[in-house]
Formats: sequence, C-alpha cells, structure tokens
Amino acid sequence: MSTIKLVPEVPQSVKAPCPICGQVSYSRGGIHPQCAVQQADEPRALRLRVARKVAADAEEKKREKNRAEGKVAAVGSPSTKRATR
Ligand SMILES: [Zn+2]
Repeated sequence: MSTIKLVPEVPQSVKAPCPICGQVSYSRGGIHPQCAVQQADEPRALRLRVARKVAADAEEKKREKNRAEGKVAAVGSPSTKRATR
C-alpha cells in the first residue's frame, strides 16, 4: 500500500509577474527596469499632473476675471474682424 503524497504543483521556475504591467519579468527584482522607473516616477508624475491642473484652473480663473472686468484677452477674440482685401 502506497501513501499518496500531496505534492503541490509548482512550475519549474516561478517567475513572478511584474507588479506594474503584469507580464513575467526575468529581471532580478521581478520587475521590469522600465516599469520600476515608471513606478518610481508615478508620485512625481502625479504631482506634476496636479500642479498642472491647479495652474490651469488659476489661469482659467484669471481669464474669467479679466473677461468680467471687460478686458479683452489677446487670444482669438471673434469680434476683431480682419480687413479683407
Ligand atoms: Zn513590467
């Protein structure tokens, strides 16, 4: 009588998928170098995105304020008609 041993099926070499892109990485850390860079860059990118949005909002507010004050913005005012030749 033989005892049945429950051996967990483990693939020959377990390659952990990259936590960023989910694809198997063969690099030491189990993460692609470019993905590591992307991950390291993420907080900075997020900050830049937020900063850009804040700047855009401020710019929009300034423009609106100028419009409210009657100042015509230099950018493409439809009322300025170009003289036709
Ligand atoms: Zn990756």
